[in-house]
Order: sequence, then C-alpha cells, then structure tokens
Amino acid sequence: MMLIPTHHFRDIERKPEYLQPEKCVPPPHPGPVGTMWFIRDGCGIACAIVTWFLVLYAEFVVLFVMLIPSRDYVYSIINGIVFNLLAFLALASHCRAMLTDPGAVPKGNATKEFIESLQLKPGQVVYKCPKCCSIKPDRAHHCSVCKRCIRKMDHHCPWVNNCVGENNQKYFVLFTMYIALISLHALIMVGFHFLHCFEEDWTKCSSFSPPTTVILLILLCFEGLLFLIFTSVMFGTQVHSICTDETGIERLKRKHQPRERRGSWKSVKETFGGDFSPSWLNPFSGPCDPKPLRDRDWVRQAASLSDTDNTETTEEQSEERKDEDSMEVTDE
Ligand SMILES: [Zn+2]
Ligand SMILES: [Zn+2]
Repeated sequence: MMLIPTHHFRDIERKPEYLQPEKCVPPPHPGPVGTMWFIRDGCGIACAIVTWFLVLYAEFVVLFVMLIPSRDYVYSIINGIVFNLLAFLALASHCRAMLTDPGAVPKGNATKEFIESLQLKPGQVVYKCPKCCSIKPDRAHHCSVCKRCIRKMDHHCPWVNNCVGENNQKYFVLFTMYIALISLHALIMVGFHFLHCFEEDWTKCSSFSPPTTVILLILLCFEGLLFLIFTSVMFGTQVHSICTDETGIERLKRKHQPRERRGSWKSVKETFGGDFSPSWLNPFSGPCDPKPLRDRDWVRQAASLSDTDNTETTEEQSEERKDEDSMEVTDE
C-alpha cells in the first residue's frame, strides 16, 4: 500500500467505483427511528456502573455519617439540599451523555447510488470509512468501540460508555462540572466534620463507631480528591476544546491538517444551545437540534488538504490516513 500525490488520482477519486461501494450495503435492520442509543461495551458498562456506585457511596457517607447525625439542623438541611441537587444533576448529565447519540454517521451509506447522487465536481473528494462503510463528513472520525463514524468526535469516554461528539458534548461537560462540584463540596464537609468532632465526643458526631466513621470519611476524602483533580482537568480541557473549536483528535492532528476555525463564542453557543441562559447548566435541555446533513457536508475540497500534494508522506501520516480510503491507492 502506498500514497501517491493527489493530482495523480483525483480522477479516480471522483469515480464511485474506486471507493468500492458495491461492498457497502446498508445494514439489514436500520432500527426503528427513536430507538435509544446505548453502546454494548463490557468495559464501558462496568466503568459507568462504578461511576454510579462512587456517587452513591459519597451520597451515603455525606447523609448517614455526616449530616443526619449532626445536631446543627440548618447546616444539615442546607448542605443536604445542595449536595443532593448537585449529585442528581451529575447523574442526570451522566445518563444523558451515555444515552444520547453523539452524532453517528449513517452506517453503510457509502453506496454507489449515494456517491453518484453527490455529483462530485473537479477538486472535490469524499472519504469513505472502510470500517463502517460510511461516507465521512468533515470532522468525523471512526470510533473502534462504538464501531461508527462520529461527527466532531472528541474522544471515547469509558466512564460515560459513549463517544463525546457533536450532540452530547454539553452533557459530558456538565457531568465533569457537577462531579467536580460534589467532590469539592464533600471535601469541605469532611474537613468541617473532622474539625468539629475532634473538639467533641466522637459518639455524638456519628451513629457509627469511631473507627468505622474514620475509615468511611478517609475513603470519601480519597475519592473526592481523586475525582476533583480528574474531573476539573477534564472540564478545563473540554472548555478549552469548545472555545478553540478544536476537538481532542484535531489537536493531535493539527500539524498535518490545518483548518479554519469558528469564533470561540459561536462554538460555545452551538455546543450549549443558543444564547447564554440557565438552560446551559440543565442536563435536561438539549443543545441546538442536530442539523440534518446536506449534500455538501459529505463532500470535501481536495485543495484544503494541502499536505496531500506532498509525495513524501511520513509513516505517521500514513498511520492517520489508514481509515480514510480516498487517500490510499493499493499498488496491486
Ligand atoms: Zn467509520
Ligand atoms: Zn466511541
């Protein structure tokens, strides 16, 4: 397999036969419209269950070790409401991130009829994903776990058992934000509890025995610290990605594929759904309705891929290009 300069094979790119569309048949059961999106990946399902378990563990310790036994009712009620509300929003965001189609490209749409219907003009190319037989629109990438091409794919996150892409990035950002907030809140409460209970008799501080109470609180501290660091770094990275309109994958490929970016505010508004409002923080309100793909979204300009004119393609570039059929020509 070798790469040849773009101008040598532009003609064959435009021929649907080159992309071997006869090998692509739409899936026999496309699935009824509106079926729930759920990735059947054992590791992802296990990670998602662990996530829920850890949130519920924190909930248990905060309520039954710290707040309910406390005699300061105002402190308990206010902190109880804040913590439970944040935990509920975190789990709701988790469900939405997991069960929302991140922007999957229709499987098996790289058929001869479909490529012909696009009526490619000189200088235009389409990219076929050989793994899921779909035509890749710009900024779509194939995910080997989801086994689909995902529009604006950022990364596949096993903790939410789904890809983070165009349609669910908002939920993922909210999930990392609410987890960071409940971790911080739990750490502050543990701090107060230790301070308060060192001064008083331990038996008045918790309904559990002192050793059990200490172990439960130390485990919560450890969990809170770990998740605070992990989710705030993730939150920062995601906000940076949205503001610079560049996904994690694009950041890795930037050197080879320079591209035009949208303004940062426009990108933020598109991700969170319209002008700034409290609904940005609401996991039950979706981002902008996903726009159906138009014909021109499938087609890309060969000229924009300036580096393909270079005959000296490095090993690294060919690695990246492996899944993009229109770049490759077999030397059979
Ligand atoms: Zn694919
Ligand atoms: Zn994925």
